[in-house]
Amino acid sequence: MNSLRRLDIKYVKGIGPQRAELLTKQLDIRTAYDLVHHFPTSYLDRTSIYTIRELAGEMPYVQLKGRFISFNVLGEGAKTRLTAMFSDGSGTIEVTWFQGIKRLREMLRTGVEYIIFGKPSTFNGRWQMTHPEIDTIEKAVSQQGMRGVYPLTETLRNRYITSRQIHTWICDLLDSRPAFAETLPRSVIEDCRLVSLDTAIRELHRPTTPSALQKARERMKFEELFYIQTDMLIRSRRRKGLTEGFRFARVGKYFNDFYSTCLPFDLTGAQKRVIKEIRADVNTGRQMNRLVQGDVGSGKTLVALMTMLLAVDNGYQACMMAPTEILAGQHYETIRLLAAQIGINVRLLTGSTRAKERREIHAQLLDGSLHILIGTHAVLEDPVQFHNLGFAVIDEQHRFGVAQRARLWKKNVRPPHVLVMTATPIPRTLAMTVYGDLDVSVIDELPPGRKPVTTMLRYDAQREQVYRGIGRQLAEGRQVYIVYPLIDENDKLELRSLNEGYESICEIFSNYRVAFVHGRLKPAEKDYQMELFASGKAQILVATTVIEVGVNVPNATTMVIENAERFGLSQLHQLRGRVGRGADQSYCILMSKYKIAKDTRERLELMTRTTDGFIIAEADMKMRGPGDIEGTMQSGIPFELHIANLATDGEIISMARQAAERLLDADPGLTSPANSAFRAALAASISRTNDWSQIS
Ligand code: ADP
Ligand code: MG
Repeated sequence: MNSLRRLDIKYVKGIGPQRAELLTKQLDIRTAYDLVHHFPTSYLDRTSIYTIRELAGEMPYVQLKGRFISFNVLGEGAKTRLTAMFSDGSGTIEVTWFQGIKRLREMLRTGVEYIIFGKPSTFNGRWQMTHPEIDTIEKAVSQQGMRGVYPLTETLRNRYITSRQIHTWICDLLDSRPAFAETLPRSVIEDCRLVSLDTAIRELHRPTTPSALQKARERMKFEELFYIQTDMLIRSRRRKGLTEGFRFARVGKYFNDFYSTCLPFDLTGAQKRVIKEIRADVNTGRQMNRLVQGDVGSGKTLVALMTMLLAVDNGYQACMMAPTEILAGQHYETIRLLAAQIGINVRLLTGSTRAKERREIHAQLLDGSLHILIGTHAVLEDPVQFHNLGFAVIDEQHRFGVAQRARLWKKNVRPPHVLVMTATPIPRTLAMTVYGDLDVSVIDELPPGRKPVTTMLRYDAQREQVYRGIGRQLAEGRQVYIVYPLIDENDKLELRSLNEGYESICEIFSNYRVAFVHGRLKPAEKDYQMELFASGKAQILVATTVIEVGVNVPNATTMVIENAERFGLSQLHQLRGRVGRGADQSYCILMSKYKIAKDTRERLELMTRTTDGFIIAEADMKMRGPGDIEGTMQSGIPFELHIANLATDGEIISMARQAAERLLDADPGLTSPANSAFRAALAASISRTNDWSQIS
């Protein structure tokens, strides 16, 4: 393989310096190695020959075998074209060329048998084909089988570099060289039943059978993912070995007092398990980096609080950060109330904390009398210095970037343990790749007594019926959210529909008080409006997605989402999580235009069928691709995988992960001679600018 990496493509037979430059510019192909790794994205089937009579409807590329009956040059100058009638005995098809006419006229003969290969189309009941590939019978035999279609760019096409041309270069190269040496360790090939590298590359360019092609694809996908996983594991194992962490050896008074006297309910099994996992982590002497995934309402705050108490019990301070002031405020209230009886000093620090209070907080942090600090990004600012920060919780992780997490590490001489909590369930396989060096815990159980939210899809024509439903809930003393999409806070049209919506709600439900929040309100006004609703003074909240994260009003049982078709699945799921927080049956009504695209309807219908965040996240990823999933953008992962697909290759990801673990368990430094080829290939293929170990 390495000799291929050193072979400049300009020396590959048939390419030359000019085309080499084009290929480099357009497709980033520099060496022969790149060229044989430029895989087809689809295949043309040249295994069978059609007859013209068989053609019907929308056809793929087909081969026809027959003779030209006549040729005709039409038009003049730039508009000249060549048409020919082609017959195979079952019917005729008109073939047209706009280019290369002179050469074709010299080359093609009537009465001689050819195989033409192209995409037939019909017009007025007559079949036609433009610019087919043409081979004599002898030549066509060598073309039989499936042939790759290679990704191209417009510029390449304009310069007459075709998929077929690329295929020829690659095939010539493959024919001219001995088998590719295997790069994966033999043990991995055997355990995972992979085909050899040589077989895989040859099959991918010139498949012999569909199932052999499938095996070849799997092998290359595996390889790509296996490199990533191995690299990540090496780094995370190294970091775990090196980064010393604070040791929370004891479970002390605060934790025990809280557990035995303050806890208003039993912990769920999942909460207990996750707390146990964290306790084990913080007692190893190594720094913890753990991601807790738990659906909305699964009780992550309590897990955060109890593990923070563990830090306090061991003489350390803890902090918890949330992405918005509202959310930080709610955490503060919750934790203050829960922890009131055990004599813990908890304070809130946000952008709007007054200077005097801020000074107090800074002082208490430094002298160690402040145990737990709750806040927004403000916590990260430089003047915020701790006496001894040992444990940091980041809630709703996806709103925090990598750089910000790195700043946390600097708040003490040794980095604090870091617990990242997310309610955006990241599909497990994606987590394995994106957060490959984080340990992952899952709270996969909701507190008892929760009734799943009933979700309905309704169209504008059913609006009156929806309003009657809202009216019934209000009459029973419940509260209602009405959410409008306001994706662009400056979009006048969207703002208008929001304002109109608000006015008509005020009119229809004139007996009730309606609060109103959106992103353009001043923070003080927003807080006031939110407070109206949270305290129950207002029964209806008309809002934009600013309420998406964290707001907790258990008496709110109904959420109407206007223009639901404009939201992504994960976002709908987050919004819906605002209801169903109390003991009463809750409802989520997705309002949509009647005319929506098929996949949009499917998306909305999925919401009506399931409340399982993981299923939704999985579906969301398949529909939108992993790069769009919140959180993955900042992760620094190169998402331009060449052949594997994070959204659909979950099984291969797991397999690669496990194989990488086994390999490193057996040979942590990859020093065994059996792994030396792999080690070299890994080094060559991973050139990452990111230092993974800094991603908390
Ligand atoms: P999230 O995981 O979405 O952050 P919260 O921590 O806000 O969820 O918890 C949601 C609600 O569930 C809160 O009102 C909380 O008091 C309650 N809760 C948490 N754990 C339990 C439990 N074990 N039993 C009953 N209720 C619980
Ligand atoms: Mg929460």
